[in-house]
Amino acid sequence: KKSTLTELKIAVVGAPGVGKSENRYKHEAMVDGEPVLFELLDTCPKADDEFPNAAELVQWADGLLLVYSITDRNSFNYIRRAKSDLQSDTPVQLVANKVDMVHLRQVSRDEGEILAKDFECKFSEVSAADHVDQVAEVFMDLCKEVVASKRK
Ligand code: GDP
Ligand code: MG
Repeated sequence: KKSTLTELKIAVVGAPGVGKSENRYKHEAMVDGEPVLFELLDTCPKADDEFPNAAELVQWADGLLLVYSITDRNSFNYIRRAKSDLQSDTPVQLVANKVDMVHLRQVSRDEGEILAKDFECKFSEVSAADHVDQVAEVFMDLCKEVVASKRK
């Protein structure tokens, strides 16, 4: 029996330094027992207030991972500002990174939760440095959402 490989394109959106992956890369994984090929795109803006062409991004991506750092208020505002540009049916998840740096926290958990309500999306606080499994879980969850939305 021939199994088909689902390809999922996930754009990782966030200000510089929040802890996004460094490159566009491909990675194979299983989602609900189905083989899935992730293609990740780190949107890599050149400046804090420069956003990649949002229309192109939304067009390209099957799912959007919006990332800010709890230690960087500007990175939170960056995501907030991006919201109107990212209006689409594309599944989205909001991630607050660097929770291991609580002593440098500038953005409260409540603020993240409120923004996620605004986006009508899931929210989690993670540490890519200390708990890479938390990040993998968010990716998996987003991919499940994407697969479910494609089936509709
Ligand atoms: P990007 O510009 O969004 O791609 O950010 P990078 O992935 O290059 O990460 C920026 C810096 O943050 C690097 O020095 C990372 O090691 C660091 N970093 C990433 N995630 C975490 C985290 O969860 N906790 C801490 N303390 N540092 C992190
Ligand atoms: Mg990067």
